[in-house]
Amino acid sequence: MSAEPTFIELSFVIPCHNEQDNLRPLVAAIRAAVEPLARTYEIVLADDCSTDATWPLLRELAAADARIRGLRFAKNAGQSAAMWAGMKAARGRFIVTLDADLQNDPRDLPQFVEALKQFDCVCGSRVAARGQGDGFVRIASSRIANWVRNKLSGETITDAGCCFRAFKRECVADLKFFKGMHRFLPTLFKIEGFTVTEIPIRHNPRTAGAAHYGVWNRLFASFYDLLAVRWMKQRMFRFQIADRVN
Ligand code: UDP
Ligand code: MG
Repeated sequence: MSAEPTFIELSFVIPCHNEQDNLRPLVAAIRAAVEPLARTYEIVLADDCSTDATWPLLRELAAADARIRGLRFAKNAGQSAAMWAGMKAARGRFIVTLDADLQNDPRDLPQFVEALKQFDCVCGSRVAARGQGDGFVRIASSRIANWVRNKLSGETITDAGCCFRAFKRECVADLKFFKGMHRFLPTLFKIEGFTVTEIPIRHNPRTAGAAHYGVWNRLFASFYDLLAVRWMKQRMFRFQIADRVN
């Protein structure tokens, strides 16, 4: 037996809040998607202080498979915070973030892995498939939010709120995380000089647990964050050192 730790290629990072009925099918779906690709992987689940049985179940899944790792917040801190804590714990060369509720479909994984050969970050876009998983109000509010976001931040991403993404781990190395940041990750990566692309993905309805966002928090809660990102984009400096002495 070798003492060398296994090199992990893919770290799946998943924020979870009250997702007890989704965890088992989620882990099964990820396994089914990743195993044909013959990649080493881990699944990092960040429990945002769920009040249901998410945490005991996560412990049970982790006890049965060392590739499943978990952390639990002492207090509910929000999706961005859970994603951030999961990303910090991730050890893989690439990070794949997705939601716990199976609205993002792990069967799209091969397309992400393929696109990672050419880009630092690959973002899923639900625009084409949105009608399969969401009703009119959610679709319309998401469209409006994306339009405003793009207009004010000079962005072209069609579905910034979609958290099914894959990227090199170094993309997040220098970022400062803030609440609501998960919606701006592609823009922040671009500011750092990383290349970003979008691919169309599937979009399933949520079959268990409750959605965390409605029209109001989707449309307006992120407006304040948007101004910060707009400011950051305008004020960030980029430079290359051409020469050094001593
Ligand atoms: N989530 C979380 N903390 C929160 C809200 C959401 O960890 O305070 C997780 C949730 O469990 C899910 C993901 O973030 O894995 C996205 O949430 P949801 O599916 O409810 O969002 P929506 O489909 O409404 O965009
Ligand atoms: Mg969802």
